[in-house]
Amino acid sequence: MIGGGYVGLVSAACFAEFGVEVAVVETDTAKLAALREGRMPIYEPGLDRLVEDNTAAGRLTFGDDLAAAVAGVEAVFIAVGTPARRGDGHADLSFVYRAAEQVARALTGHAVIVTKSTVPVGTGRRIAEIVRHARPDLDFDVASNPEFLREGSAIGDFMRPDRVVIGVDEESERAREVLRRLYRPLYLIEAPIVFTGLETAELIKYAANSFLAMKVTFINEMADLCERLGADVHDVARGIGLDGRIGRKFLHPGPGFGGSCFPKDTLALMRIAQDAGAPSRLVEATVAVNDARKSVMASRIVAACGGSVRGKTIAVLGLTFKPETDDMRDSASVPIIWRLAEGGAAIRAFDPVGMEPARPLLPQAVAFCRDAREAVAGADALVIVTEWNEFRALEPDRLRQAMRGTVIVDLRNIFEPAAMRQAGFDYRGLGRAEPGRSRPVP
Ligand code: NAD
Repeated sequence: MIGGGYVGLVSAACFAEFGVEVAVVETDTAKLAALREGRMPIYEPGLDRLVEDNTAAGRLTFGDDLAAAVAGVEAVFIAVGTPARRGDGHADLSFVYRAAEQVARALTGHAVIVTKSTVPVGTGRRIAEIVRHARPDLDFDVASNPEFLREGSAIGDFMRPDRVVIGVDEESERAREVLRRLYRPLYLIEAPIVFTGLETAELIKYAANSFLAMKVTFINEMADLCERLGADVHDVARGIGLDGRIGRKFLHPGPGFGGSCFPKDTLALMRIAQDAGAPSRLVEATVAVNDARKSVMASRIVAACGGSVRGKTIAVLGLTFKPETDDMRDSASVPIIWRLAEGGAAIRAFDPVGMEPARPLLPQAVAFCRDAREAVAGADALVIVTEWNEFRALEPDRLRQAMRGTVIVDLRNIFEPAAMRQAGFDYRGLGRAEPGRSRPVP
């Protein structure tokens, strides 16, 4: 497994749990040192236990010697990062190509080189060229096996996936056989395994993420509309989500999608489609609407504070892009907090696990608090950015006593509007206008 990040480490630990011997190669010295000492470099529920068990059983090892790790293996997974390339939004494939070349030079016999990273259509074929060029003598296959796990529930997603997608060339029977064997435990639980060609598998991953991003963006727009019309977005989501053709998931309004995947993958698909001469206006609109949303959210907070946040103390709860992860990549909290800080607000922030990764991304003046209670103490306004479960339990009356002001901007709708208003708050959620307070239809 080349790369021991969110995807590489989880996949490696889960394959090891299936009984496979897995060697993880990680070049980041701090991450590697942590893994070797049994400490997890990322926060992912259940991962520490899985890694500990499989390391103890001798099936899971960590190192930086790629040549030693790939000698004699049947399959090599490339699970390195593919961030958005600076400036143009195309996926940056430099880590993938470098890894492919290193793997090619180190292989000692036939192996399937599998891309687990999310990569643009055509990357698998380019990898094959790189390997052939570096090692004309080598017998190998390439395959695409995009990963669909979600941070925060990554182990369950890997062990009980909705489906596994495997892209191989028609003639690569050996690759199909190796991957089928590797995923055999999933056949036993009847998880669908979708075999396709290379290009199709690569596109499936972008299409899946872009579709979900579009769904989130759609409900965000419906939330805005609900506010104008006096409707309730949760009821709208339920009312449409119960339709099996639509489905209930990913219909929660929020401050705009973020994280390590949706922003870069929508951008990459937009570029892929443009380059292919078949631009996707839906994906383009999704990117544009979502980008605008973060500053719209910041403006809402300013408006809720009476038009200016200068001299105000604002408590921000939740910094990571979603709960149950420490991942801060493209989190909505970052642009929102910068806007508020630049507007002259003093920020008191708390996140259950994301404070360390958040620190370098936020203004120096942000006060990082020990818990939610400390963050809200004396605050003029409270903003909920990430819906960690522990915030749901905050009691309105206690909050009211602890805070100086009465403004709550709940960007995840974790509180009951009526209870908050009853406790004396000027409470603003998303898409939950009070009936009767709608704008009249012209
Ligand atoms: P990550 O940044 O957490 O991990 C990548 C790791 O690879 C890093 O630790 C880096 O040090 C290491 N690395 C880079 N080059 C290396 C090399 N030559 N040899 C050894 N190690 C190397 O990234 P991630 O979140 O795990 O994402 C990896 C890929 O999986 C991306 O393409 C991403 O789009 C995709 N993906 C991510 C998720 C997710 O939820 N994070 C889900 C599905 C797919």
